[in-house]
This record gives sequence, C-alpha cells and structure tokens, in this order.
Amino acid sequence: MTIQYRITPIDPQAHVFRVEMHIPASDHSELTLTLPAWIPGSYMIRDFARHIVTLSAASDGESLLVKKIDKQTWQIDASRGDVTVRYDVYAWDLSVRAAHLDTTHGFFNGTSVFLSVMGQLHSACEVQINRPLGIDASQWRVATALEAMNEATDVDGFGWYRAEDYDELIDHPVEMGTFESATFEACGVEHQLVLTGRYTTDIQRICTDLKRICEWQIHFFGEPAPVNRYVFMVMVTGDGYGGLEHRASTALMARREHLPVPGESGISDEYLEFLGLCSHEYFHTWNVKRIKPARFVPYELDTESYTPLLWAFEGITSYYDDLTLVRCGLIDQARYLTLLGKTVTRVYRGSGRHKQSVAESSFDAWTRFYKQDENAPNAIVSYYAKGALVALSLDQLLRRCSSGQIDLQQLLRVFWQRYGQGVQSGEPWGVEEHDFQHTAQTLCDEAASGEIAAFFETAVYGTQDLDLSQTLSERGVSMHWRAAVSSSDAGGTPEAPASSGEVNTNTEGAPEKLTLGARLTGGVNGLNVTHVFEGQPAHRAGIAAGDRLIALAGLAVTSADDVQRFLRRQRANDTVTAHLFRRDELQTLDITLTPAPVDTCYLTIDDQGLADQWLGNASVLDTRI
Ligand code: ZN
Repeated sequence: MTIQYRITPIDPQAHVFRVEMHIPASDHSELTLTLPAWIPGSYMIRDFARHIVTLSAASDGESLLVKKIDKQTWQIDASRGDVTVRYDVYAWDLSVRAAHLDTTHGFFNGTSVFLSVMGQLHSACEVQINRPLGIDASQWRVATALEAMNEATDVDGFGWYRAEDYDELIDHPVEMGTFESATFEACGVEHQLVLTGRYTTDIQRICTDLKRICEWQIHFFGEPAPVNRYVFMVMVTGDGYGGLEHRASTALMARREHLPVPGESGISDEYLEFLGLCSHEYFHTWNVKRIKPARFVPYELDTESYTPLLWAFEGITSYYDDLTLVRCGLIDQARYLTLLGKTVTRVYRGSGRHKQSVAESSFDAWTRFYKQDENAPNAIVSYYAKGALVALSLDQLLRRCSSGQIDLQQLLRVFWQRYGQGVQSGEPWGVEEHDFQHTAQTLCDEAASGEIAAFFETAVYGTQDLDLSQTLSERGVSMHWRAAVSSSDAGGTPEAPASSGEVNTNTEGAPEKLTLGARLTGGVNGLNVTHVFEGQPAHRAGIAAGDRLIALAGLAVTSADDVQRFLRRQRANDTVTAHLFRRDELQTLDITLTPAPVDTCYLTIDDQGLADQWLGNASVLDTRI
C-alpha cells in the first residue's frame, strides 16, 4: 500500500502550503493521523501541528467527519474506503527546523507538512511537489535528496518523488525557488550545493573546499559512502546560523558575509565557521543518522524522547568537525588549536559544568540546553562543547590503553559496522547507553578495563574537570590559561586582539585585569545585564540578570567599553557603588572588584612529532588572511 501526498505552495503571499493526502482503503474503519511534535536533530517540542490552519477529509466525493483528539492528532471515519485529506499549513518559520514560504522561495521539512497514518508508518510514500500558484514560478526549481520517480519529474524537479516509509519521507527537506546550485563528486558520489538568498560568493570555491571535507570523512568511516547522492541546502541571510542533519542532506543557515567572495584565497574566520558547520552536519550522516541511540529506533515524535547519549552523537561529532578541517588540509595545526582552545574556554567559563554531567545534559536537552535562560552558565554544561572534550580524551585514552593500536576512529568504525550498516540486515539496532564504554573495553587490553570504566564514570557521568592537560601533553600540545581581556575574548590565542577602546592589560607589569562577573549588552541609557556568573563580584553584590546598570562609582556607563575603561583604573578589592534599575526601581549596591578568573585557554605545540601524528602534517592549501 502506498500513501500519496501532493504539496502545493497554494498562496505564497500568505505563506500557505496545501497538502492533499490520499490513503487507500484498509481493514481499519477509522484512521488516526498525526503530525510530529519535534524534528529529529533538534531536541525540543515544537508542536508543528499548530500551523495546520484547516483540515478536511472526504471519501468518494463525500466529506467525512473529522475529530481532533489532541494538539496534533485527528481521527477520520474510513469505513467507506479510500480517504483524501486536505489541509493547509502556514509556513513562516525561517529556520532549518520547520517550513518557510514566500514569493522568493519555499522550504519545508516533512515533519512540518506531512501527516502520518498511525499503524501505517512502514507504508511506502509518494509525494508530488508542485509549482507555486498565483505567482510566476516558471524559473523555480526543486532541490531535495528525495528519490525522484522515474520520468515523473520535470526538468526543474517538480513532480513525483518516493520514500520507502514515513521515516524516510520526513528526513529529506525540500527547497524550491531560483536558487544557485553546483555539484561536485566526493569518492564517486554526487554532492550538490544549493544556495538560496542574496549574497555574493564563489560557489565553485565552496564546492572545492567541501569536497575535501566529504572525502576525508568518507575515508574516515571507510568507502563506500553511505549515500548515493548528498545535498547541502544553504539559506543565506544577514544573520542566520544553524544546521540540521538528515540522512542524505543537510539544511543550513549561513550569514552572507561568511561566504567567500570571488577571488578570495584564504579562509577567513567567518568562512571557517561555515565550513565547520558543514563538516559537523556531514559527519552526522554516519554519527546519529545511521549510528543512532537505541531510543531513536524508531523515533517517537509525539513527545520528548530522552537519551543520555547526545554527548556522544553531538560531542563526538563536534570533536571531528574541526579536526576534519585540519586533517583534510584546509587549515594548519596552529589554527586548529585556536579552535580547540576556544572550545575549552567555552566549557571552563561556566560553573554549571560542576553541577551537570554530559549524560544529564543530554537527557535534559529538551528543557534545559534547548531552553537556556539567564542562569544557564551557572546551571548546565553543553553536551556539544564538553562532549567534544570527552571525545578528545576518549580518543587519547584508547590510544594509551592499546599502545597506540586503537583510537576513537576504530571504535566508530566498529559502530558503523555494527549499527550503521546493520540497518540493511533488518536486525534490531541502535546504541544502548553503555555500548561506548563496553566497546572501548572490548577493543583494548583487559588490563585497561578498570581505567576505561573510571574514565566514563568521571567524564560522562561526573562533573569534575577532565584531565585535559595530561591528554593534550600526550598529543604534544601544552595547555595555557590566562584571564579574558575583553567581553568578546573567546580564547584560543595567547592574547586577544585589542578591540576599539580596549588595550590588552594582560602583560607583565600591567595592572591586574578586573571583572564584574556579568555579561552586559548595550541598552537604552545603561547596560542590560544578561548573565551573572556565580561567585563573581556582580553575584556577590546582588546584581541580577535583567537589571539595567546605569552607573559605576557615580559615572554613567552606556557601553561595555565604558565598563572596561572604568575597570582598568581600579584595583582588586576596591569597593565601588553601582547604580542600576531593577524593573522601574533604582537600586544602589556596593560591588567589590576581584581579578578576572583565569578561564581563557590557548594551546601550543611542544612536540611536533606527536602533534603530527594527531593532526596530520598534510600541506596546507590556504593560509590565514
Ligand atoms: Zn549536531
């Protein structure tokens, strides 16, 4: 039995897709239709069904009674045979997670537009993607990794596609419009890069760089690639950032200034961030789309699906996304270590790392990591950033415990054999909570079992800091710490470049760097306090997130630079008066200044041979600009 969908941008000006769904007659006298509450890869309840504006059903030309039984589920009388369901979906969410439609383009994830039929998730699906109505869409094309049905699509890609089941149907986002597109081959597989939006860039240049990333990762897991075709689908905007992985594509948001302009040869920090994002999502093609938590087999999309394993699926992916860039020769070792130093800094700046383990952070992603509030740095740890450091540590632990014979790559290859490729065998598959530890123990000498168990207990389930200094020294790298020199200092380098109005005071003989211990953003007549860091001066003085700081020692402050300039003229343990508004009430507080915490990391190589073993020493194509 095949379920058919027809999707039409029926009113682009009103951002409405119309979907018509045809469900053949079955033994069931009643159909239950439901839309996912969340999209795999983005662990938050989104209630996509709230965008279904109207829904009706008919059988043999006669309308049927439709009963809504919860926020995302409808019941329909199916006793008369085939059922056609028609519904309109409002699509005005410009993100990688949902659906967006206007007169310039359309984008949708199946989770936003395709209802599933309960009990028929394994039925084959066919979908007809139609040209928009009401506008001149003669130049529009379709980009998707969905499989086109033989000779059933036109030259622009409108027409019929098929998916083996509902799970596949919702795992291929679709872009339509007048996008720019280019293709490249990686290990014999066609990859398509699709750029939507307004920008100036060199698409061939991006393809050349992506090819290196893709080939390195395909070789990492071993040929053949897990896909027959892959699509990078990029929406370019002024301030977009984000990505979502799928089995044979990724949907990305990028800032137009991050893309390289024609003639540009180096890799700017911004373009590097874009390449890192592409690298991250591509690595997911294996790690989470095929090797996945048992809890996600199958996905339960009606409610939260808790797993303690996101540290592995996001953290290991985060470790390899940047490592890919140096190993494939796009950046040099020093530049990689800058990226890693920033990741270390991100983790060490939050006291939440001593309260939440990465396993807990994974489990609670739904309500904590994805719903971060002003207290997040004091309460939670990122399973991405700390997860990447756990992966780095595990990689080296495996090497140490196996005399250099095994590393994290081998472990992932075992998983790829066992879980990823096992999907074809039809056997139950999916990674259970302790599989990483048990597989690591199996791969190494028995004598190392205790050490590996202790590592998981501490690194994954504990809240102590990892012994990164030891791990990195075994890789020929030294870890150094300093105080942040400005609010925009993300670490990774010995000294942050001075920005406007700031000088680096972190030099010998210079006054000690002081801090308020709060994150401030510019506001009207003062500075908005967005975060207050536990144990630091603002916290001890009673300053709260949401306050509007207006003066320090009786002098107005209106920018972060004002605060930096003020702090440079103070000494540790000076007490100054702060004036601020909490709501509409003026508060006067005494704040005792303390030295800025030494929480900013940078890394240097002290054993080139060991560093080469880890990071490779391939000739680097591009240098920093
Ligand atoms: Zn990810």
